[in-house]
Amino acid sequence: MSYDRPELLPAVRSFLSSPKQLLIDGEWVDAKDGKTFATVDPATEQELVQVAQASAVDIDRAVVAARNAFKSPSPWSRMTPRERSHLLWRIGDLIDAQAEEFAQLESLDNGKSLASARGDVGVAAELFRYFAGWATKMEGTSIPMSVPGKEFHAYTRREAIGVVAGIVPWNFPLTMAAFKVVPAITAGNTVVLKPAEQTPLTALRLGQLLLEAGVPAGVVNVVPGYGDAGAALVDHPDVDKVAFTGSTEVGKKIAAGASKNLKKVSLELGGKAPNIIFADADLDAAVAGAALAGYFNEGQCCVNGSRLYVQRSVFDQVIEGVAAAARAITVGNGFDSATTMGPLVSQEQHEKVIGYVRGAIADGATIAAGSGDPAADQGYFFRPTLITDVTEQMAIQTDEIFGPVVTAIPFDTEDEVVAAANNTVYGLAAGVWSKDLGTAHRVGSKLRAGTVWLNTWHADDVTLPRGGFKQSGWGRELGSFGLDDYTELKTVIAELR
Ligand code: NAD
Repeated sequence: MSYDRPELLPAVRSFLSSPKQLLIDGEWVDAKDGKTFATVDPATEQELVQVAQASAVDIDRAVVAARNAFKSPSPWSRMTPRERSHLLWRIGDLIDAQAEEFAQLESLDNGKSLASARGDVGVAAELFRYFAGWATKMEGTSIPMSVPGKEFHAYTRREAIGVVAGIVPWNFPLTMAAFKVVPAITAGNTVVLKPAEQTPLTALRLGQLLLEAGVPAGVVNVVPGYGDAGAALVDHPDVDKVAFTGSTEVGKKIAAGASKNLKKVSLELGGKAPNIIFADADLDAAVAGAALAGYFNEGQCCVNGSRLYVQRSVFDQVIEGVAAAARAITVGNGFDSATTMGPLVSQEQHEKVIGYVRGAIADGATIAAGSGDPAADQGYFFRPTLITDVTEQMAIQTDEIFGPVVTAIPFDTEDEVVAAANNTVYGLAAGVWSKDLGTAHRVGSKLRAGTVWLNTWHADDVTLPRGGFKQSGWGRELGSFGLDDYTELKTVIAELR
């Protein structure tokens, strides 16, 4: 019997009851070897549906389709920038029109609350509309040359790179898919998208919607599968660029694999963001901000503020406040309207987070909120957890946990906290809370991170570039900078005789 629950929209019910195949060259096809895998509702541990599982041979089919769609002449290569712009806008509107269907699928597959999933769907739709504007604005420049006795006209052009492999994680399945597909097709590339094995559903639904919107066959191919399918994309000689979001560990493998034939690579990787609260901060705002920073998206967010540093004179007060905020979070099924935190995405993730917290307890840390125990007998639920009496050497402090776990350490001086905050291989995000603008901006400038929040956290927009310092990645996504990694810059020099 297929998965069901009373709240499901008829469209979601019908989506779940139809075969989940690979999208290659505008057609829905089974994997060549017929393999499928189960995607699971993390709140109930029930199988949602079987999904076709791509292997290297399917990846090759998808890359051939993407290459043919890219090659001139093709419907895609003939499309003008304005036509691409209108197409992108139309897709954004279509996502909005089916927002509740996407939100239900996302909540079922990932576990996050419906409210949270609705927010993600809105971001994806807005991303298509934001980049719709850029499709007609990929301009070059004309550059003077100084060659005695000769005249030249030299200019630059921004051109598509070719076939882009987008490999994405499970924490924001639809938005991460959009982060790869949208800038790639805005610039005229074609795409092979590999969703995470834990959460393939909204990427497949997006594939359907792209076809409905009129994206030509082969321009976007969607191939769910495991890491071996991702590795086959990275190894494929006809892929021109790999755009990856995921762990630093896999990012390193991707950089190594892509180096064999020097593919372009952009990497959005892990984080362990420091969140620094000075004694002169608006403490009510800082406490609420620290809870949001730590527990947003079940703690499964690369830019979450998982390392809290609090100036000693207000440490106890802040810990009390964040612990109370953690206890006020309602952990439950994403479909319950009271739920503010759903389950973790998978059994593996659940076991990993529990293991880290139990390890910290064994190392002598103190639990100020939450526990190292599962929050329910069924489903991958875990209570937001706050940990004190932590040292900089403990695994809970050094490793990216990717769960609702915040560690807190007191500090005395600015220099001491900046050194501690930067004492990590990661550099994705950081934050500072202080009413003194000088302190906030000065400390912000010293933090080695791609995004720094001052007196706020998670404030964001598709207009803003994001990415990592150090081992948190290569390149920047979104904003006007977000197209750079999806284009080649060509210099053209003409002699005027
Ligand atoms: P992951 O690295 O395990 O997997 C990400 C994707 O890579 C999946 O699609 C997976 O199938 C694929 N993959 C696995 N092994 C591969 C290989 N050898 N070659 C090619 N592809 C392979 O990450 P995850 O657990 O899905 O996601 C969590 C991680 O993502 C965290 O580290 C988090 O910080 C990071 N993340 C970063 C950002 C950012 O913007 N920097 C955003 C979201 C998540």
